[in-house]
Amino acid sequence: MKTVILCYHKIGSELEEGRWLNCAPETLGAHARFFGRKKWPGVLPRDFAAARPEGICYTFDDAYVSAVSNAPAILEDAGYRGAFYAVPSLVGVVSNWDDQKARPLATWAELIRLSSRGHEIGNHTNSHPRMAELTLEQQIQELAVAHQMLNDRGLDSRSVCYPYGSFNADTLAAVSSLGYQVGLKLAKRPVQGESALELNRIVVSFSDSLPKLLYKIYVRPHLP
Ligand SMILES: [Zn+2]
Repeated sequence: MKTVILCYHKIGSELEEGRWLNCAPETLGAHARFFGRKKWPGVLPRDFAAARPEGICYTFDDAYVSAVSNAPAILEDAGYRGAFYAVPSLVGVVSNWDDQKARPLATWAELIRLSSRGHEIGNHTNSHPRMAELTLEQQIQELAVAHQMLNDRGLDSRSVCYPYGSFNADTLAAVSSLGYQVGLKLAKRPVQGESALELNRIVVSFSDSLPKLLYKIYVRPHLP
């Protein structure tokens, strides 16, 4: 068994959410049922602070309304929980980094309800910048404000997800200075020997039927 962290964004029908950064609920369901049948343990990002667990980890960037509305029941039916990465300055409003494709983001009440059901709510920075383009001080500010806003609402934020997968050495220093031990980046492969502050995640796209997802996990990482 491997350690695989999947990165989803929106979870909705093609009619409502389009294809860009979206995965249909039926596709997520097929993924979750497959790993459930194979008895892969469910892992949450916060678990990586203490260990390098084997299993499957479902993460949802940006905490879109579509993901927060649809994913939890699908995951729970298969025995799993997910991790949802909120952008505190925009919680309950609409994403502002994707221009024409802006979509609504879940409210605090929805995030608190998810947390009480065992899902993880994590830090996706306060305003969704490309962290590697900011100074160390700006990066600390982005992470610290988001951390405070999450924790003020009882959302015990214990992992960070870097917007666009963008980070540098200053990001890692900033994350560590706030006491975080887990950070998620993007990479086209399962978790290997990398630091827990730079964990690999595989992006799941609209066309990632189960066979395509398994290709991304088992075959693509070995191609030259
Ligand atoms: Zn994002």
